[in-house]
Amino acid sequence: MYTPGQRGKALNLSAYLDSLLDKSYITFKDKYCGYIARLGQCKNGHCYLKVIYCGKEWCWNCREIFHNRRIARWWPKVMTMGSFGSFVFTIPKEMREFYKDREHLSELRRYLNRRFKQLYPGIKALCRWHWFGNEKHDVYKPHFNVLVSNFGKLPKKELEKIKRNYKNALERYTGIKLNGKVDVYYHYSSPEGIKKECKKRHEKLTDEKAQERYQNTLLHKLWYLTKATFTVYNQELAKKLKNYPASSVWGRFRKLTYEEIKTMKKQKKAYFGRLKKLDLLMSGHCPACGNKVHWLKNFCRGTLSSHGQKIGAGYYYLPEIQKNAHRGSYRRFIKGR
Ligand SMILES: [Zn+2]
Ligand SMILES: [Zn+2]
Repeated sequence: MYTPGQRGKALNLSAYLDSLLDKSYITFKDKYCGYIARLGQCKNGHCYLKVIYCGKEWCWNCREIFHNRRIARWWPKVMTMGSFGSFVFTIPKEMREFYKDREHLSELRRYLNRRFKQLYPGIKALCRWHWFGNEKHDVYKPHFNVLVSNFGKLPKKELEKIKRNYKNALERYTGIKLNGKVDVYYHYSSPEGIKKECKKRHEKLTDEKAQERYQNTLLHKLWYLTKATFTVYNQELAKKLKNYPASSVWGRFRKLTYEEIKTMKKQKKAYFGRLKKLDLLMSGHCPACGNKVHWLKNFCRGTLSSHGQKIGAGYYYLPEIQKNAHRGSYRRFIKGR
């Protein structure tokens, strides 16, 4: 058996846990949402716990948590957007049955990705499928959201062209002829745009205030984009969409540093009123010291969280484990109660 390092020395947690963990009762396919967890540690020995959830949009247990995780994951990317354009590509009624299929959905997404890259080389965007509309939670109404970084006003002609191309692509893929138009919505926002809008209404806005309003718009957009829409379980549809990744990222976003996240989180905190440590942890930094956090491959019990301090979205800080690491008292914690 591996014996932990001396007092004060960072512990090789991975090797230690390997020797302690009774893995027989844990499998990755464990169907209980939140039943298992993963331990993580930074170079300085700070310990964290990440509870693993099922991540299904209709799951009562983890829907909120996963929404928060998605926000935290995309938030650093969104913060690099000086302005944004937002597209929504809808699918006409007669084609929705056809798009209850992972391969068909992927094909359409690939088409849009290709088309956007042709039109705007170097494009960076966050994309996500919403499966149901805002009002009716039982009528399948897939629509594809694209949030494009640093995008401005789109000439009417250009938007019409995108719509036309999109309609042609839909007809080509499905083999169904459409009579009317296909709905594609577009709007954009920037601090300058917001300032101009206010000027029209004879409202004076400082640069700082305009920036703040813009960032709030952006954060609301992020909240909307990442929310779960498949909230009422439907076995047939769930089967058809199983393991299909609803979210995707086009292009490469710049990675924010520890310092940048620390300063930017003020704005987010003002908006969401929480989740400051989570932002750091989810972008791979230890909230306590800024070093990289390594997550262990093996699982432990989710009940370990009862020994931790809540960080948010199923993440916990484990000071007790950290403190006791050198005394070899992991067993008590790992095995759970
Ligand atoms: Zn769940
Ligand atoms: Zn640390």
